[in-house]
This record gives sequence, structure tokens and C-alpha cells, in this order.
Amino acid sequence: MDNPKLNDGMKKFLQTSGSPKFQAFQGMKIDSATFLDEIPGRERCAGCSKSRKFFCYTCYVPMPLLEARIPKVKLPLSLAVVKHAQEIDGKSTAIHGKILAPESVEMFTYPDLPNTDKSILVFPADDAEDVGVFVERIKSENEGIFPYNQVIFVDSTWNQTYKICHDPKLINLPRVKLCGIESLFWRYQRGNPITHLSTIEAMYHFCVAFHKTAVSPDYGGDYDNLLFFFRYMFFKIRGIYDPKSLRSYQTRPYLQQ
Ligand SMILES: [Zn+2]
Repeated sequence: MDNPKLNDGMKKFLQTSGSPKFQAFQGMKIDSATFLDEIPGRERCAGCSKSRKFFCYTCYVPMPLLEARIPKVKLPLSLAVVKHAQEIDGKSTAIHGKILAPESVEMFTYPDLPNTDKSILVFPADDAEDVGVFVERIKSENEGIFPYNQVIFVDSTWNQTYKICHDPKLINLPRVKLCGIESLFWRYQRGNPITHLSTIEAMYHFCVAFHKTAVSPDYGGDYDNLLFFFRYMFFKIRGIYDPKSLRSYQTRPYLQQ
């Protein structure tokens, strides 16, 4: 954290951070991201020639200066993210997942959809089950085996998400939701409860909940680096700006209590 502006902001942030949610990154195994502050500027993406800083959100690749230095995460099952064509790519956190866990995450632009065999959908419908409850139930009904290997997330505004989740290919998939997790997302969206998670938070918390019920009750931080860019941006933005003035990022309706 060499940036003096950030240090001032961080001091102020730490002085006012009485809420337990501000301590949420504590104890997580997230690599240091301070080298991101040393990235001199933007480069041209080799794929699309657009000017990008950390990663290209059109081509879903890290920029060459970062490629060897960012953490790589392996997730416990495949994640497919479906975004609406009208969504502005640069405003989504879902791309963090593709950059940090490229072998485990696939991106789709609706109406393109992944193969939905053995898939479940994260969607906060009334009939959706909590992830942990769902995994336990399915395992007990299948002699300890969890028969699904892909989780689909929809990365869009609430109205578009509702529409996409009612696509004939998705409507009959089992639905799960994440219950009782507070978002740390810096862009509070008016009218949304604080429990509406950004997409990368939903992806992360899904993997942790899945691990604890399907892999092992001991979770050792294997997926914490999914929040590598999220934590960096959280402190950067909290440190420099008044979060109320940020208009660009939006929460996603993954969570319902
Ligand atoms: Zn590109």
C-alpha cells in the first residue's frame, strides 16, 4: 500500500470500521495484491486491442504483466456464469472468477447457455434451498454421492436475472440460494438489502458452503483467492472514495433471506 492517498483513506476506514463485516477478510488466505499498485498503466489487449489495466473483461484474460503473478484457484466443481448481453462487462465482478480460476469457470452471454446436464442454478426463488441443506439432502438421497458437477450463476440485474432463470433450458434445474451472508460489496444499491451479493461473492460463498458439506467440514481457505481482486478493490475504493458516490458497480440478487 504505497499510495499515500490510500494510506490516509485506510486510516480513516480502519478508525470507522466497528462493524464485524469489515473484519470479514481477516483469517482468509488471500495473496497480497500490493503489486497491482505497481502496474504502470494500461496495455493493449493482444486479443481485442482495447486498452486494459489488470485484465481484459472482453477476452477474459489477465494482462501479460499480471499473468504469472496472480493466484490460480481450483474450484470443487465447474461454475458457469451467464450474463445478459446488455450488461457492461467492466462493471461485473464475475470476471474475477474467470481470471483467477480459468479452468473452473466458463462465461456465457445470454442467449448462449452452457450444457445444463448435471447442473444446478443459483437463484433466490422461494422454492430454492440453501446450498448446504441442498447438498446434504441430495447426498443422503444418493448414497453419499453428489450427482451434479456444474453450478450456473446469472450475472445481471434483478429483472434480467429473473428472465434468464425462466429460460426453458434453466427453469427446471434445481435451485439453490445462499442464506445469511452479508455482502461486502462497495456499491450499495438503493432498495437492495445488504445481503444481495456481488457475483464473485456468490461464487466464493457457494464454493465454501459446497466444500463444507460435500468435500470436508474442515475448510482450509482453498478458494479464498477468488476474492483476490475483490479485496484489493474493496480496500482501494473504501480508502479513496466515499462509497456512496460510486455508481458503477451493482449488487446481484443471489441471496434471499
Ligand atoms: Zn481483450
